[in-house]
Amino acid sequence: MADYRAPVKDMLFVINELAGLAEIAALPGYEEATPDLVEAVLEEAAQLAREVIAPTNIIGDEKGTHVVDGQVIVPPEFHAAYKQYIDGGWPGIGCNPEFGGQGLPALISVAVEEMLQSANLAWSLCPLLTHGALHALEAHGSDALKAIYLGEMIAGEWTGTMNLTEPQAGSDLSMVRTNAVPDGDAWRVSGQKIFITWGDQDITENVIHLVLSRTQDAPAGVKGLSLFLVPKYLVNEDGSVGERNNVTTVSVEHKLGIHGSPTCVLDFQNATGYMLGAEGDGLACMFTMMNSARLSVGLEGMSVAERAYQHALEYAADRVQGRAPGHEGSVSILEHPDVRRMLLTMKSEVEAMRAVAYVAIGHLDHAARSGDPDLQVFHQARVDLLTPIVKGWITERAQELTSVGVQIHGGMGYIEETGAAQYMRDARILTIYEGTTGIQAGDLIGRKVLREQGTTLTALLDEIDALAGGLDGELAGIGSALSSANSDARESLTWLLANHASDPTIPGGVSYHFLMMLGALFGGWQLARAASIAADKLAGGTVDNDFYKAKILTAKFYAEQSLPRVVAHARSIQSGSATMMAVTLDQLRGE
Ligand SMILES: Cc1cc2nc3c(=O)[nH]c(=O)nc-3n(C[C@H](O)[C@H](O)[C@H](O)COP(=O)(O)OP(=O)(O)OC[C@H]3O[C@@H](n4cnc5c(N)ncnc54)[C@H](O)[C@@H]3O)c2cc1C
Repeated sequence: MADYRAPVKDMLFVINELAGLAEIAALPGYEEATPDLVEAVLEEAAQLAREVIAPTNIIGDEKGTHVVDGQVIVPPEFHAAYKQYIDGGWPGIGCNPEFGGQGLPALISVAVEEMLQSANLAWSLCPLLTHGALHALEAHGSDALKAIYLGEMIAGEWTGTMNLTEPQAGSDLSMVRTNAVPDGDAWRVSGQKIFITWGDQDITENVIHLVLSRTQDAPAGVKGLSLFLVPKYLVNEDGSVGERNNVTTVSVEHKLGIHGSPTCVLDFQNATGYMLGAEGDGLACMFTMMNSARLSVGLEGMSVAERAYQHALEYAADRVQGRAPGHEGSVSILEHPDVRRMLLTMKSEVEAMRAVAYVAIGHLDHAARSGDPDLQVFHQARVDLLTPIVKGWITERAQELTSVGVQIHGGMGYIEETGAAQYMRDARILTIYEGTTGIQAGDLIGRKVLREQGTTLTALLDEIDALAGGLDGELAGIGSALSSANSDARESLTWLLANHASDPTIPGGVSYHFLMMLGALFGGWQLARAASIAADKLAGGTVDNDFYKAKILTAKFYAEQSLPRVVAHARSIQSGSATMMAVTLDQLRGE
């Protein structure tokens, strides 16, 4: 079983060169984020991920979680790992210093998050949900609520959850039935939530649920929803944990992957809750948590694909099988061109995903801290456009990449012993929770493109054209592939803008291909930037020759093998939706 080695070199390259750490460190409050400090933080996090968290990955998969007397029990090894995580102060790395956080930019905390996710996806969901919940609390909670809960959550002493889903309310949250009635300063929340990630655990002394609920006499639909903070244990005035609230864990689900993450059915019966934000603003408040979680889930796709890649690479280097041109006798499978194709597909796409995701997070830092309102609007528009792509494209590609990881292992990948299959099983949830790919694609095409007639996207396509036009010499091939893919994407955008109003089924019919097209294009855009920077470094003389040469190779491979996907998606987009809408249920059934 291959150990996990955090790709610190690539992370630092992306942070410094592609996402622009220097500009982010110049923003107010981020002055401490110097390259030296960032490198030290990443090295230390890499050690935690490799030595403490990664060894729990298979244990969690095999042992799973279960409920005893209404209490979720997780593997004991998870407790020890979590203790080291909080003892090291890791939960608060990107959080508000006013409440005990370290206030580093999100661009730094994202690298730590990636390492935890690669090390153990199921375990890392506990901090992921806690961070989403505390961001929503910070943005929408009263000062009194923040004083009680925020510090404990930032310290990782209490964890957080997100409670949206009910049996009849999945993608469509207007169907939520959980209800809340006022009771003095508090509320009484009743209803059943399903599929709640880390909805209970026996690691920390409290669990803080953020619950989407209807209030009495509220209008139907999403406008009638409000957000409530409902603790597992009520908190005494002195901040200590008091009596049990009326929240019961009914069961945990048996599922395909992420066995170490308890997916809970929770029953709320007149549970004491406190409203966050205004009555009726529940979905808007929850979106603070969901947007943060969408970027994090996109990151999960890349993280699990990175781990699958490392595993497959080590296996390929060791496995001797067959003969290859230019070699005497049997060779390691690494010498077969087709195995190289698979490995480079994994490497180049993972690096493309990391670059797109980190660049999006860098925009988030600018949007949060820039003093110039115009710049804030610019960066926020980029975050808004990139969020569904980070979530949808990365998690969809993670399905294929983790499957390629199994393929490289041959039969040893299909059996559980090697661990390669676990990545594929764990990755399968990523296109489903936190808004399915269909929901992300609809958000992209509707809210992020059509609503503003493609303004943000057009500006970005112009930027890509300028970059592609400037690539010459050994990068000329990358430049022409990028330029051609960009024209295909631009043509699709023009087609969409011209045709969507003629048939209301067009946006939904083409949205998946639109999302995947932009993901593939933006991956090529970031790798082309990386290759250009690498070429400059090599020309200027550098000690890291191999790393930068590999960057150029990887970008070339992506331009040759992955960028052509853009034209395929573009063709599908321009075919519209008429054929898919013409088919009847009987025809689908073959009757
Ligand atoms: C392991 C796990 C963990 C989870 N964790 C949480 C959690 O912590 N908190 C929480 O609240 N929920 C959680 N969920 C629930 C998850 O977010 C939902 O499963 C997801 O939102 C999809 O809802 P659904 O399962 O009801 O599918 P449905 O909404 O029934 O969707 C089924 C299919 O129809 C498509 N579809 C539905 N509506 C549309 C539309 N408008 N446009 C295009 N396509 C559409 C979907 O894309 C999908 O392919 C979790 C689920 C699982 C399995």
